[in-house]
Amino acid sequence: MPETTRANARSQCPYCGVGCGLELLPPSPSGPGARCDADGTPIWTARGDRHHPSSLGQVCIKGATVGETLSRGRLRQPLHRSSLQEEFRPISWETAFALLVERINASRQTRRGSGGIAMYGSGQFHTEDYYVAQKLFKGALGTNNFDANSRLCMSSAVAGYARSLGSDGPPCCYDDLDHCHLAFLIGTNTAECHPVLFQRLLKRKRRHPDSVTIVVVDPRATDTSKAADLHLAIAPGTDLALLHGLGHLLLRNGDTDPAFLDASTEGLEAYADLVAAWTPERVASFCGLPEAQLRAVAALWGGSASVLSLWSMGVNQRREGTAVVGGLINLHLLTGQIGRPGAGPFSLTGQPNAMGGREAGGLSHLLPGYRQVSDGGHRAEVEAAWRFPPGSIAPEPGLTAWQQIEAIEAGDLDLWWVAATNPLVSLPNLERVKRALERCPLVVVSESAADSESCHYAHLLLPAAPWSEKAGVMTNSERRITYCPAYRPRTGESRPDWEVFAELGRRLGFVEQFRYRSSAEVFAEFAALTAGRVCDLSGLSHDLLEREGPQQWPFPLGSAPGSGSRRLHTEGRFPTPSGRARFVAEQPLGLAEPPCAAYPLVLTVGRYLGHWHTMTRTGHVERLRTLHPEPLLEIHPRDAERFGLREGELATIRSRRHAVTARVEVSERIRVGTVFLPMHWGFRQEPACEANALMHEQACPISQQPELKASAVAVAPAAAEPQPSSWA
Ligand code: SF4
Repeated sequence: MPETTRANARSQCPYCGVGCGLELLPPSPSGPGARCDADGTPIWTARGDRHHPSSLGQVCIKGATVGETLSRGRLRQPLHRSSLQEEFRPISWETAFALLVERINASRQTRRGSGGIAMYGSGQFHTEDYYVAQKLFKGALGTNNFDANSRLCMSSAVAGYARSLGSDGPPCCYDDLDHCHLAFLIGTNTAECHPVLFQRLLKRKRRHPDSVTIVVVDPRATDTSKAADLHLAIAPGTDLALLHGLGHLLLRNGDTDPAFLDASTEGLEAYADLVAAWTPERVASFCGLPEAQLRAVAALWGGSASVLSLWSMGVNQRREGTAVVGGLINLHLLTGQIGRPGAGPFSLTGQPNAMGGREAGGLSHLLPGYRQVSDGGHRAEVEAAWRFPPGSIAPEPGLTAWQQIEAIEAGDLDLWWVAATNPLVSLPNLERVKRALERCPLVVVSESAADSESCHYAHLLLPAAPWSEKAGVMTNSERRITYCPAYRPRTGESRPDWEVFAELGRRLGFVEQFRYRSSAEVFAEFAALTAGRVCDLSGLSHDLLEREGPQQWPFPLGSAPGSGSRRLHTEGRFPTPSGRARFVAEQPLGLAEPPCAAYPLVLTVGRYLGHWHTMTRTGHVERLRTLHPEPLLEIHPRDAERFGLREGELATIRSRRHAVTARVEVSERIRVGTVFLPMHWGFRQEPACEANALMHEQACPISQQPELKASAVAVAPAAAEPQPSSWA
């Protein structure tokens, strides 16, 4: 049933995990001065919402221009084709549902049962979309083959928190930026990827220059490191050794918190044994760092009243991502820097609702309420709440993102459903992904964009109502939930994802379980299922959030608005069997694909300030395209000279998997031996530059997050090689 649209809306920004509050102003009446698209569609205006407690009116250029993206390049009706060689033809929703039901039932009749069906979802979902998808796949169909692009983004943080602290759930809040004395930023270009948070830290630094020190660990000099007191430009893949070296020095210097260690932790002995071998000399040589810098950071950490660490993809997208997260949390445990103002290990999520996805069970090993599919008690609780018979939920984790591609390759998937994401740009080893998809019998893509790279590999395209056209909630990095109303009419025949999943559930015969009349009912059911869990938000409802504004969890039933806990673990107790946080002790492994004679450089990929992920929206904004007109290969002057590359000319970048072309930017910002490309440009962009096609898929064995941050490459002038037409 369509939900009400309204004017003067307040919502959460649909781009990054900072989750800033936006105020959305309806288009002004047509006539002179009205802002309209080329086709005459009036444009909404977005500005920072001063009442949102997470961002206090601040907004970055992406959020400020989101109004310009709402109607451009939209998919307006279901489209179908029998093979990838054919043109799409319009079909009705009725025909689309009939096709889905027929193909799902046919697949379930095979020996694989529901294991031949998988969905790849997104941190762009509202929590309600995530939740109904879990109920459809894990409950009704009995397959855990639901994974999300969060697997590429923060699954190492999820696994790291759970292993060290007993549960997922970032323990910090944004206020900690106003209280920390040492901000330790590792593997995060916060200035460009989480700009509003970074500006908050800088504001504090400007006002109190002597009371806060910023340390940045990154192989590349970025806008973030420019503002740092100390930049540790370590060699790629050496961060765990660096953390162990800091642990070594903190222990050796006696800069620990014995009372906290005694009362609140376990496993210190094994950890101390391990880091004893990571002497400053060894770490400095391993990381390619002056020893004095390591000692300086250890002294800062040991001498600071409060230490806040921030990280994002540079840590998570590693084949030892979970171990690095554990290595960082170890330092907080060693020094008791957790659960109090200005202190703690704080993972910054990439997507606007990756956190909501975690809460709703949106990865292949999870169930709603931070539950695990492998836990019989958890399965029984969810089956009872969902009114499915005992044993309906499978006990084994389903296929993760990359395992879904491998299953397609092996002919083990009959139907792959992609929703609200563009894996044909964001997955690693894209040529292998494309070859796999050419073999998949039915690829379904639910999208609001008509022409994403993934649409090119679809048989069935379903028009999805985006954030602005459906009501739901999103949770940002500080555990704060914002109600996001449907503030503009739906475009064409677009429908919210949760509504499509529920309709399909009913058509598959699960009428009672999917009898929702609104997303508010979906949320109410989900919220009740979190009661008593770490992420207890059972006291929240759409009504309360709309009336009282965004709220942080935990928010148990009966909580007063504004009473959500700002920090977790404030009593020094953790949700582990012993109540203690755990040290983890793992030897550094380094990169999965180190440089060699044939591929002598390490390519690292990242983001530009003005673009969001695969540019399906920001690519439509002239101002943002002007800001970043093309992808640039950053290379150090010594490497440029060594490989014959000149500023402004084109280079070919080749890995074991593929080759791409980009214009050269010679810069001392990057370490010798490392090069950088942005990841935004896919094959449908001008100019095309599929950076992730170069990257390998080897993943962290615990989190299954691929090492998207580093691959070995060779570079050469492109002049002698044939160029794509877009470079002509
Ligand atoms: S910082 Fe992130 S959430 Fe805030 S306006 Fe920018 S993109 Fe949106």
